[in-house]
Amino acid sequence: MPLDAQNPIAVVLNETLAAQRAAYAQAPAPSIAERTERLNRLHNAVIDYKDRLVAAVDADFSGRASAETELMEILPVLEGIAYNKKNVKRWAKQSRRHTPLMLFGSKTKVHYQPLGVVGIVVPWNFPIFLGLSPLVGALTAGNRAMIKTSEFAENTGAVLKEMIEATFTAEEVTVHTGGVEVATEFTKLPFDHLVFTGSTQVGKIVMRAAAENLTPVTLELGGKSPAIIHDSFPIEEAAKRIAFGKGLNAGQVCVSPDYIMVPRAKLTAFTDAFAKEMAQQYPTLRDNDDYTAIITDRQRERLLDNLQDARDKGATIREVNPNGESFEGTRKLPIHIVTDVTEDMRVLQEEIFGPIMPIVPYDTIDEAIAYVNARPRPLALYYFDWDHARGEHMLNATHSGGVCINDVMTHVAVDDMPFGGVGPSGMGHYHGKEGFLNFSKAKGVVVKGRFNPTSYIRQPWGNRMHTAFM
Ligand code: NAD
Repeated sequence: MPLDAQNPIAVVLNETLAAQRAAYAQAPAPSIAERTERLNRLHNAVIDYKDRLVAAVDADFSGRASAETELMEILPVLEGIAYNKKNVKRWAKQSRRHTPLMLFGSKTKVHYQPLGVVGIVVPWNFPIFLGLSPLVGALTAGNRAMIKTSEFAENTGAVLKEMIEATFTAEEVTVHTGGVEVATEFTKLPFDHLVFTGSTQVGKIVMRAAAENLTPVTLELGGKSPAIIHDSFPIEEAAKRIAFGKGLNAGQVCVSPDYIMVPRAKLTAFTDAFAKEMAQQYPTLRDNDDYTAIITDRQRERLLDNLQDARDKGATIREVNPNGESFEGTRKLPIHIVTDVTEDMRVLQEEIFGPIMPIVPYDTIDEAIAYVNARPRPLALYYFDWDHARGEHMLNATHSGGVCINDVMTHVAVDDMPFGGVGPSGMGHYHGKEGFLNFSKAKGVVVKGRFNPTSYIRQPWGNRMHTAFM
């Protein structure tokens, strides 16, 4: 797209990209030692800035437990760095491929090359991890990167910017803060690859902007991730495992269980067990540092509106507020369990992204599978069943970005697995080896030797030499 010279945001962003491009062209093939050194620098920076980053997230949320930020943001970044450092040499090695007979005497191989400059757009819900984890993949593959942070996590964005500026040159990595006006110009840049983590709705806008430059995209989007409990699975155990995941970040997680499918006869037992579990995890809420607040008043209003919509349409809503507290003047919102749900309710139509849990009863497991399959493909699917064969059947019968069997959300923590959505929940993968491949060009190469058997295969085609290879 032509540069808008009147727009100072566009000018700065384009200049930064041009500087990174030029630096990349000067050193297009960083060695494993150079990549490792960059990863080491990032690792040390995260350790040095840890307390400030944790405090910044706490300020952005007006209350998020430091243990949650450490467990779900800092630790996975450090683990991702360690894992990639251990494996980058193996991944980056040219891989030999099978040579067809017709090319006898040649070598065939795949050469993994950095793409150049990767753009990374970050949402507010995990503003450290979702900025730095794609960066780890991009650096491992030998790229440079520009990161756009979320306007709703301003404090974290500011600390990340300071940290990156103290750690990398502007030709290596930069951080750009700001709102939609910055995001719009950012996603118009002709990056060599663009990673966007955010809503499905904005993902469409971003993909359209990237299409103008034919910039390849990785879209890490949202959706409604179901949890299905098989009739044979102990209901209290399922409630315990799901409640732990749903409580994290007060449900503001892309892979948070969005609705739960429960055998009809066990609906009350599950609702009671789930409410009991949540109350044990969070005996108080208002001043409890362990329970995260909602990121903005607007998001809290959205969640309350969705609850009202469900109430108006006949849902039964149970608020888990063990101490009977008032939340006036805070952005805390207790978990609400919603039963008697109908398809016209927004809680069954839109991604919840907060502490609301609709329960959908089912009669047969085939009916539960059909229910999931009739809806947009989710980012994650959770299935509770000790039976191995039925678990495998669930994997084949449904589509989702990732799966946990007998748990929720923990698949995200595994570096040696691809992470990414499918269809409306996203495209492309990162983490571990798939991240390395995502940020590399796998270039097929044929190297011919002195002996050239194909020299016999030439026009005029009357010689029909090629038929010897059929
Ligand atoms: P969002 O889509 O509103 O914003 C994400 C980013 O896009 C922000 O940096 C924002 O500035 C930028 N943006 C906003 N409007 C834009 C535009 N018109 N053009 C270009 N960029 C624009 O998402 P959010 O509210 O920050 O995050 C919540 C969503 O993110 C949820 O749907 C959640 O499921 C999803 N999410 C997905 C993952 C994943 O890994 N798949 C992880 C976390 C969050």
